[in-house]
Amino acid sequence: KYGIQCDWKKGYATLALNERRMDDLIEMEKASHATFGYDKMQLWDKAKLKQHLGSDIYVGGLYDSNSGHLHPLNYCLGLAKACLDLGVQIYEQSPVVDLVEKSGCIEVKTDKSAVISQDVILATNAYIDALPKSIHHGINRKILPVESFIIATEPLDQATADSVINNGMSVCDNNILLDYYRLSADNRLLFGSDSSSEKDMVQIMRSNMLHVFPQLENVQIDYGWAGPIDMTLNASPHFGRISPHIYFAQGYSGHGVALTGLAGRIIAEAILGNDERLRIFEGLKVPSFYGGKSLKNLATKIGVLYYKFLDRYR
Ligand SMILES: Cc1cc2nc3c(=O)[nH]c(=O)nc-3n(C[C@H](O)[C@H](O)[C@H](O)COP(=O)(O)OP(=O)(O)OC[C@H]3O[C@@H](n4cnc5c(N)ncnc54)[C@H](O)[C@@H]3O)c2cc1C
Repeated sequence: KYGIQCDWKKGYATLALNERRMDDLIEMEKASHATFGYDKMQLWDKAKLKQHLGSDIYVGGLYDSNSGHLHPLNYCLGLAKACLDLGVQIYEQSPVVDLVEKSGCIEVKTDKSAVISQDVILATNAYIDALPKSIHHGINRKILPVESFIIATEPLDQATADSVINNGMSVCDNNILLDYYRLSADNRLLFGSDSSSEKDMVQIMRSNMLHVFPQLENVQIDYGWAGPIDMTLNASPHFGRISPHIYFAQGYSGHGVALTGLAGRIIAEAILGNDERLRIFEGLKVPSFYGGKSLKNLATKIGVLYYKFLDRYR
């Protein structure tokens, strides 16, 4: 609709590292077909997968021809431009420090000024712990921030790129703390993993990448970066309302910009008077985590170890 140039490419595969995890994918395919009538998924055995992916570590996968991937920063900049073209005003570098509900409006205070608003959406993702309680009203208890790391190789020549992925798809394994990767438009391999903070993450990520694609031994890593993603305890998203005009969306639990876009649309619908879809999300049970900030940090570390254990042995 807005002609956003963000390298959108169709094709996505979820891959299983052992037969038990493959059974999960078989169940997923069955359920998506039976429950939602979705017919764009194909189960691939090891031989079929090898036709498109140059790795030996997987037993098979579930390919979805209707899903895909994009360049998230260019998508974000494109959305911002579309908003500006429609007359929206965006204020950067203006952290909100308080929200005051008054009759018929909400005062949104920054450290320098204030905006009077009819509706407010809290969309601070994994950074919610930094807000005062007068803003978040305790919804920070629903999420644990977990670090995700990503590296980008140098641009690969076409033969090397094809030896990795030859059909343009993006890929995740179906671990809880997962590896995810794709080729960018300029043929870099972007390789990410969820984990806990460790020293020299680029080296750790490089060895994760070489475990999957040993043929990249001599390829240079040009970039590496990290940031928090917001996990809920049961990996369910957490969308809702703190009061009739203060909405929130968080708990994307690794589903990234597909789910954030959906959250934006559903909350926009509710603000415009149709909250049917928001109410469905409000009905999802999301357990709370109780404890202060240091306990939360400890819980994140223990949670990461626990998820690693489950990933290895289940
Ligand atoms: C390393 C890494 C790799 C990732 N890779 C992928 C990927 O390949 N595919 C994918 O789909 N997703 C990926 N994700 C996840 C994706 O980035 C997030 O799901 C997405 O950015 C969430 O969007 P958001 O708008 O909800 O939150 P964010 O993009 O995190 O934005 C939250 C905003 O809130 C602002 N904020 C915080 N406090 C305040 C305050 N007091 N006042 C005003 N503003 C405030 C912050 O400045 C920030 O701009 C990745 C994440 C990381 C960290």
